[in-house]
Amino acid sequence: MTLSITSCQSAPATTENETSAAAESSIETVTDESVTAQEALGNDSSLSDVSTAVADTSVADSSTSAVPADTSTAAEAQDASVAPEAAPEEPITQTPVYLTDDMEFASFSQIHSDAAILYENHKSNRNGITICVNAGHGTSGGESVRTQCHPDGTPKVTGGSTSEGSTTAMAVASGMTFLDGTEERAVTLPAAIILKDRLLDAGYNVLMIRETEDVQLDNIARTVLANTYAQAHVALHWDSTESDKGAYYMKVPSVDSYKSMYPVSETWEKSDQFGECLVQGLGQAGRSIFESGSMEMDLTQTSYSKVPSIDIELGDRASDHSDETLQNIAEGLLIGINAYFGIGGQG
Ligand SMILES: [Zn+2]
Repeated sequence: MTLSITSCQSAPATTENETSAAAESSIETVTDESVTAQEALGNDSSLSDVSTAVADTSVADSSTSAVPADTSTAAEAQDASVAPEAAPEEPITQTPVYLTDDMEFASFSQIHSDAAILYENHKSNRNGITICVNAGHGTSGGESVRTQCHPDGTPKVTGGSTSEGSTTAMAVASGMTFLDGTEERAVTLPAAIILKDRLLDAGYNVLMIRETEDVQLDNIARTVLANTYAQAHVALHWDSTESDKGAYYMKVPSVDSYKSMYPVSETWEKSDQFGECLVQGLGQAGRSIFESGSMEMDLTQTSYSKVPSIDIELGDRASDHSDETLQNIAEGLLIGINAYFGIGGQG
């Protein structure tokens, strides 16, 4: 039995796998940057400014109007309505990515006809780390399809929306309804888009699972895509209680059989550490935190995750979900993500 590590103090810069991959890619990034800087020096600087502004605007247009675009950028974009002919690489590129049979655990997914969108960052502050941002719920029909809870077929070890002992769960639940009548899925969506924009500004790549009201990707497909394209996975949710109880993350259950099941055996410590960082970041941003900041839960997402992966509950049915609150939440999550990856100076 291994002791649980739940401190966010030691960002896993010195641990194996994903983080070393992230470290390698940031080394690459530094090298690329020097090339970019040289190229920029060689080019007409006003021309490259123009293309930057245009590309930034197209990214901003693809998201909701919830995030005000940087005004100077918007002004430059208007001035630059004459498109440059020889545009250098766009600062942010978007690529649809689909589930494919060669991805581990893909065969457990029942709903995967849509693509997620991979935003790749080419800005000077890029860090080479990809965060999967998963707007919880929002798969119509997902509640009437069932998927296997665990890859090895064993039953769930905790009760939640699916009871303990079940071997299958809803492919995607429809989510709760806030006391003001707003659907959870209609709040996780703008929250995810705001977080995406903050992450891109801070230099991350982002894998966006859902950017529209509906995406046909079940929880297993979402997780497998995160495993394939991201170094960490954060799913945004609000809880179904009514006490405005504050934020917490779903922690890997302290059940030996669960923690020894592949791939949980390889990720649970990193997931718990990532969750701890997210909750601490939310606290630093001024969000209220529920009790210890975590609750043990056996989730499909956790059960198939090969990268640090967290379902974070950002409040409940009684909580405010105004744009201002969602901006504050994104701020806190960014602080936590930066802390986990040892990225300084942002937040
Ligand atoms: Zn939820």
